Amino acid sequence: MINRPVELELFYKLAEQTLNGIIVTDSNNCIIYVNQPFTSTTGYTLKDVYGMNPKILQSGLHSADFYKEMWDTIHRTDQWQGEIWNKRKSGEQLIEWQNIFALRDKSGKVSHYASIFSDITDRMMHETKLKTMNTKLEQLATHDALTENPNRRYFNETLRNEWETARRINKPLSLLMIDIDHFKEYNDTYGHPMGDECLHTVATALRNTLTEGFLARYGGEEFAIILPGTGSDASIAIAEKLLNSVQQLAIPHQSSRTIDVVTISIGCSTVTPKEADDPIMLLEQADVALYRAKTSGRNQSKAIKF
Ligand code: GH3
Ligand code: MG
Ligand code: MG
Repeated sequence: MINRPVELELFYKLAEQTLNGIIVTDSNNCIIYVNQPFTSTTGYTLKDVYGMNPKILQSGLHSADFYKEMWDTIHRTDQWQGEIWNKRKSGEQLIEWQNIFALRDKSGKVSHYASIFSDITDRMMHETKLKTMNTKLEQLATHDALTENPNRRYFNETLRNEWETARRINKPLSLLMIDIDHFKEYNDTYGHPMGDECLHTVATALRNTLTEGFLARYGGEEFAIILPGTGSDASIAIAEKLLNSVQQLAIPHQSSRTIDVVTISIGCSTVTPKEADDPIMLLEQADVALYRAKTSGRNQSKAIKF
């Protein structure tokens, strides 16, 4: 035999002792009961919210579509579960994992709605912090802190991948090696901090001038650009644009033996991967071309195609 009053008492005790918040509304969505954990989580007592719509907890962070979909699901299946971003009485954020049920009477009509939720705010904040930290660590591992460009390790990995792709689709691959002219003298004349600023400015100009390709800080005052699918003529045209963009910055360089502003030299190499076994060759040829640009007077590009 079921003893209703005893059973009711039992369920009441359970509702008050569980760690989850509970809200019960009538069929019109007016609150008729909240438990103690609801109060300690949200800051609202039963007196505060009696007769009100649970909407009072809404943060405004979800769209109208979100609630429409939630209610469509409840009307269709009598339940819904998911994450809801609400706010507490204090205005502080409250992230909940919610289970909402429609309760029906003997005739099958909805008589009440009940929501049981757990407060997952701390867990979510912790996860977000971890994600942000991971993103920062990844950025540190793959990028150079001074110029914010990919670093040499990331460059080498990308070059290997692009080499494989070019080999598979039999398209040319070009590489530009860029080196700032007389940069030692720049540091000696203007000091290391100004040298750092110059590196940052030059890197930004290179990045803004490029409309394609992968730019990296290869090391010291050297940058490298991978140009997938780009042939020799097109890569020389890009190199000319880059040379101009740096010269036009008009960063004074009194001790340069080229002209009186900061300039760069560029070595270009192009290959169709089936013609060579290894991307190292592309690097070596770009270095040779860069050396030629330097010995021919700097502030220019030289190209090698093989
Ligand atoms: P070249 O025209 O032949 O390229 O001559 P260079 O003086 O530019 O070349 P060199 O290789 O002799 O000197 C490169 C200089 O770049 C020396 C080094 O102090 C400077 N350098 C490398 N990394 C940094 C950096 O992160 N910050 C600053 N300020 N200077 C750097
Ligand atoms: Mg150098
Ligand atoms: Mg240099």
